[in-house]
Amino acid sequence: MTTQPLDVTTLTADLIRHPSVSPDPGESQIALGATLEAMGFVVTHLPFGEGAERTPNLFARLGTGKPHLCFAGHTDVVPPGGSDWAHGPFAGTVENGRLYGRGACDMKGGIAAFVAAVSAFLARTPTPRGSISLLITGDEEGPARFGTRKVLEWMKQHDLIPDFCVVGEPTNPVAIGEVIKIGRRGSLNAHIVVNGRQGHVAYPHRADNPVHRLLHVLAELTAAPLDNGSEWFEPSSLQVTSVDVGNTATNVIPAMAEARLNIRFNDLHTGAALRGWIETICMRHAPGATVNVSISGESFLTKPGPDVSALSAAVKAVTGREPKLDTGGGTSDARFIAQYCPVAEFGLVGASMHQIDEHVAVSDLACLTAIYENLLERTVA
Ligand SMILES: [Zn+2]
Repeated sequence: MTTQPLDVTTLTADLIRHPSVSPDPGESQIALGATLEAMGFVVTHLPFGEGAERTPNLFARLGTGKPHLCFAGHTDVVPPGGSDWAHGPFAGTVENGRLYGRGACDMKGGIAAFVAAVSAFLARTPTPRGSISLLITGDEEGPARFGTRKVLEWMKQHDLIPDFCVVGEPTNPVAIGEVIKIGRRGSLNAHIVVNGRQGHVAYPHRADNPVHRLLHVLAELTAAPLDNGSEWFEPSSLQVTSVDVGNTATNVIPAMAEARLNIRFNDLHTGAALRGWIETICMRHAPGATVNVSISGESFLTKPGPDVSALSAAVKAVTGREPKLDTGGGTSDARFIAQYCPVAEFGLVGASMHQIDEHVAVSDLACLTAIYENLLERTVA
């Protein structure tokens, strides 16, 4: 099979024209699957979940050789969020060197860049040594229950875990080539409810003030930094996000006080250890307090090795920039992939992601395509 190089801007605009507010109804993945099949990929559509939760996913593989390089991404997008788009959110309009539309940078442009890169790579290297795959989910922006996590379980069952995975999320703040993400912090939410005994402020001995107990809890939780950072991570951060009593009277000791907090934690902690720490402090100052802790994700890190080096080198070769290896920002599906294989994230400039008039520079699409093609040459040629 001879493959013709595909145009990245056309590919991105075609994907944008399939509206796919999370969870993706699926048409964008049918179109993407057809493109990949025409390039020689074996495409498997993997819908998981039932009813309103039904999530389309796609796994596509070209070749069976080693090493196996996987590209991961999502076709679902966040809602347009308003009607004052200068260009329709699903029109895929190009104007003044920019392509507009929901998903342009997060992350239909990233998917299109990888597909275009593979097409250009195959045009010059029709029979590569290694193999290439795509793991595409339709639910990354939503609850992410029937997406990447389920596809990885299926890949494990079928012995399809890659040697290295690149997630095409927009990682660059301003210019392409600035940042490769090699890990992410974990995230934990806690809700603390302290019950006391209501009473008159003039007769405090007949009451038990839960506000004072809660203040002692929060004072100890925030007294010292959680850590000073680690080799690849910034210091962990605990932020109290809410303290509520709901008392409007000036002469009443309230019966209850509650607080919420979030911790973004690095690889020096686990969610379970932080949960235990919070519970111990609550026990000390407010025995009987109700503490609800939910862990949205553990921290993870791919220690820089040959794979991350190849990606850095590809970025440098195309852009001239030395990308910073970073672990900041929110969470992504890479947290699931990290449980199976080394993973790094590199994509477009994310400045307009989730905003009105989301857009990407056409020149950035070409640049990212060249970087992915360079990576393919370094790893699977
Ligand atoms: Zn995204």
